Amino acid sequence: MTEYAHARPVLLRRMGDYCSYCEVHAPTLAVEHIRCKDKNPTLELEWSNFLLACTSCNSTKLISVSTEDDVAARLWPDRDRTQDAFVYSAGGVVSIAELKDPAELSKAKMTAEMVGLLKRPGAGLKPEQIKTASDRRWELRSQAWDEANDARKDLLEQPTPLVRRRILKEAKACGFFSIWLTVFRDDAEMVERLIEEFNGTDRARIFPPAPAAPAPAAPEVTPTPSAPPSPPAPAAPPGA
Ligand SMILES: [Zn+2]
Repeated sequence: MTEYAHARPVLLRRMGDYCSYCEVHAPTLAVEHIRCKDKNPTLELEWSNFLLACTSCNSTKLISVSTEDDVAARLWPDRDRTQDAFVYSAGGVVSIAELKDPAELSKAKMTAEMVGLLKRPGAGLKPEQIKTASDRRWELRSQAWDEANDARKDLLEQPTPLVRRRILKEAKACGFFSIWLTVFRDDAEMVERLIEEFNGTDRARIFPPAPAAPAPAAPEVTPTPSAPPSPPAPAAPPGA
């Protein structure tokens, strides 16, 4: 066993048995080096350089991410708000979000391309890969989409704690956290509980920055967290 492979059980405990890129639930995840270890031997055992990747993401990541610039040119699931960059829709189809910032848009595209995140029949998947089912990420994602939507219907019909618990178990076994989050996005309780259930999820990367606290009773001024304290009101001019 290579030395970095010893990191695998720790990473699995921290992030769950899910591919860091495509979110598939897989028993065969490998420790993946963000910056390739061949060109960066000093990073071979560096924790911040580790993610978990499924066979398909690992083998698609042919582009050698080697330098800090290579890293900066892409979005990474452990440090960026990838939740904002990709959209999940019917059939488990993944697309790039309409990001306003051209730099962020470029990074999202580079990440998708790096691991083949958007690939499906008719969109980048090779006939051979379809024939041999060597890359089933699209198919499993499509099944996850259906499963999550069925689960949502169940919950609408029977909004009980028991059904919620059952759905959370199902989601955890299924993987594809982003799909469950998308399907249940209007259900605040489920969003919270999905984040708890997928224990590697950083909630700060899911929710938008917290809005300002509700205004207290009298105020005409809405404080913002970063606003400096208001200066004292100027003294009334003499003679007023
Ligand atoms: Zn993957």
